[in-house]
Amino acid sequence: MAERVIPITDLRQHAPSLLAGAAVPAPSGLLSDALGRPLRDLRISVTDRCNFRCSYCMPKQVFDKHYEFLPHAELLSFEEITRLTRVFVAHGVQKIRLTGGEPLLRRHLEALIAMLAEIRTPTGAALDLTLTTNGSLLARKAQALKDAGLQRVTVSLDGLDDAVFKRMNDVDFPVADVLAGIEAARAVGLGPIKVNMVVKRGTNDDQILPMARHFRGSGVTLRFIEYMDVGATNGWRMDEVMPSAAVLARLREEFVLTPLSPSVTGETAERWGYADENGQPQGEIGLISSVTQAFCGDCNRARLSTEGKLYTCLFAHRGHDLRGLLRPGADSAGQALTISDEQLQDAIARLWGGRADRYSQLRATNALPLPDGERRVEMHYIGG
Ligand code: SAM
Ligand code: SF4
Ligand code: SF4
Repeated sequence: MAERVIPITDLRQHAPSLLAGAAVPAPSGLLSDALGRPLRDLRISVTDRCNFRCSYCMPKQVFDKHYEFLPHAELLSFEEITRLTRVFVAHGVQKIRLTGGEPLLRRHLEALIAMLAEIRTPTGAALDLTLTTNGSLLARKAQALKDAGLQRVTVSLDGLDDAVFKRMNDVDFPVADVLAGIEAARAVGLGPIKVNMVVKRGTNDDQILPMARHFRGSGVTLRFIEYMDVGATNGWRMDEVMPSAAVLARLREEFVLTPLSPSVTGETAERWGYADENGQPQGEIGLISSVTQAFCGDCNRARLSTEGKLYTCLFAHRGHDLRGLLRPGADSAGQALTISDEQLQDAIARLWGGRADRYSQLRATNALPLPDGERRVEMHYIGG
């Protein structure tokens, strides 16, 4: 079948909101949104499936054997992800985080990593290429990921006590296997490694000190994340949130901690450094306070869902269909349509230029009614 580039009038049938309106400037790496925030960080969900059933993310009662995950044809292909990434990088993205679901469940992920590792920013720099994983397959895959060009990993681990951790992952997965994954990542040089612990009050807050003792001075940065009201299925309640201030108070019962300045603009974690009895630094911890302390002011993150929808906020209830632009189908004469890179660049510039999301800031005021029939997007589908 012959192909033709779609005129903008045809494209509007596919994505009217993305392609209508005044012309936008060519990519300069300096794109900013309606609140003046640049686009620097793209999180790409490579699968909506997971082998864990963390109660705060994919509760078993909802994500059971009847749950319909996306069929393979709906997923963005590696070529589509790479093409979109190039466009995002032209607009200023410097960091790519692969996520999910569990990203290591996506077959041949190393091939995607190798494709992304070749991309350069407009100034010729390599991307900061990282991945968030539950660690279950990391021991097996660390070397292949490193060889493909992955730079570092973030591993999620919600406790050191097997009974507590198994209650959190809800599939009986043991702590030792995740620790082995972290060790394998370290051994092949996938660092600096971060470990994320979601703290649910009354469920795993007794693991704060054991986790801190375990990782202190190990070179791994442990980050405590407030349990968030993402999605519509986790039955979130404010009384199960352990505010970062309470986590910090718990840590200070045992450790001397001093505040550290942010390492980059838009950093989600507040950093604290451990000191030993002589005041010498002993590594750091992070506190991610998405519930009690909004950090929307310099949020430079976009999220691409497994099926190619762009979400400009973790708490959005609607994404923008970029896959529809990449696969526009055929015209009435059966001629295959294609979209040019310039048209894609234009659509993304339009989207980011109109972004005014600041959910966490508004949450406190309760000024966030959802339109009728709308649900917030689930975390496993757009990633963390
Ligand atoms: N499966 C991988 C993992 O668990 O690392 C990657 C995807 S997971 C959605 C990404 C991150 O989101 C994890 O660190 C997870 O703990 C975090 N997360 C999921 N649901 C959350 C919630 N309700 N509140 C806070 N963090 C959450
Ligand atoms: Fe799976 Fe990660 Fe969600 Fe847990 S947090 S259910 S490991 S996607
Ligand atoms: Fe960014 Fe939305 Fe989170 Fe605010 S609530 S920090 S805009 S993702």
